[in-house]
Amino acid sequence: MKAVRFHEFGGAEVLKYEDVPDPKVRKDQVLVKVKACALNHLDIWIRKGLPEVKVPHVNGSDVAGDIVEVGEYITDLKPGQRVLLAPMTFCNQCEACMRGQQNFCRQFTVLGYLNDGGNCELIAVPRVSVVPIPSELTYDEAASVPLVFLTAWHMLVTRAQIRAGQIVLVLGAGSGVGSAAIQVAKLMGCKVITTAGDEAKMDQGRELGADYTINHYRQKISDEVKKITAKAGVDVVFEHVGKATWDESVKALKPGGTLVTCGNTTGFDVGLDLRFLFSRQLNLLGSYMGTMGELLEVLKFVFNGTLKPVVDKTFPLREARAAHERLEKREQFGKVVLNP
Ligand SMILES: [Zn+2]
Repeated sequence: MKAVRFHEFGGAEVLKYEDVPDPKVRKDQVLVKVKACALNHLDIWIRKGLPEVKVPHVNGSDVAGDIVEVGEYITDLKPGQRVLLAPMTFCNQCEACMRGQQNFCRQFTVLGYLNDGGNCELIAVPRVSVVPIPSELTYDEAASVPLVFLTAWHMLVTRAQIRAGQIVLVLGAGSGVGSAAIQVAKLMGCKVITTAGDEAKMDQGRELGADYTINHYRQKISDEVKKITAKAGVDVVFEHVGKATWDESVKALKPGGTLVTCGNTTGFDVGLDLRFLFSRQLNLLGSYMGTMGELLEVLKFVFNGTLKPVVDKTFPLREARAAHERLEKREQFGKVVLNP
């Protein structure tokens, strides 16, 4: 089969479209023909080089496609079914997994991070990772859902425990996770302030349901938040940007407010004035992906049309380099998708 791999870490030029052996499906696995695989910022970090990642490596965490073969132990799925894959892998037998907290499993990892992912034509995965999708959902839409909607759900609903009437600041409306978070916060009855880098993306953020928008290049986020909230600040900040926005995110919180973060696309080395943390009684929460239970929960809202996948642009798999460059230049609104 064809796959996009890299044999050394580096810029987008290290991505090679090449022949690799077909995967062999184990008795407890499902073989899926990949129709769409969405990109995440993680793909860029992995390509540039993260510890423990071995080369040659195949990226790809968000997969949708058709079942082509099922192992003999699997009786409830059949070839031809349209499916998406859970964006993570885990042991499915330890205490954390049995508790339903797969993201605390010692073997938990994002699909395509410490194992090969879906930037290829065929992928073999355990039964537990496979979720049939309704016919209305295109493969590109289905691939745009798993990682970002699971992450946004875990951050807002499980970790920050957002409630109707709260004000949530979602950074980066144009990012995959930002476009998901706006919708999840609105679904839960919150008011949403979001940020974007240009007018077009601010409009798109409003179309997804955001009540207020801030241009994060031209305006100071915390000042604008103060204006919008009559100096009160927000209940929750949805952080995934890191260094570039951290100070503004902390300043935007109201006393007793909660900052929840899942990443740091601009850098991880941030400062914190402890006096500000304790005197204003702030909550800082880390969040990593989510559980299978949460994935199935959020997918119900996607499958009934309440939450909408945001597909930015599709590229043929062989043009993975151009797709990476689009994401790296932050030109996208929503998910950049590869089609094998
Ligand atoms: Zn486990």
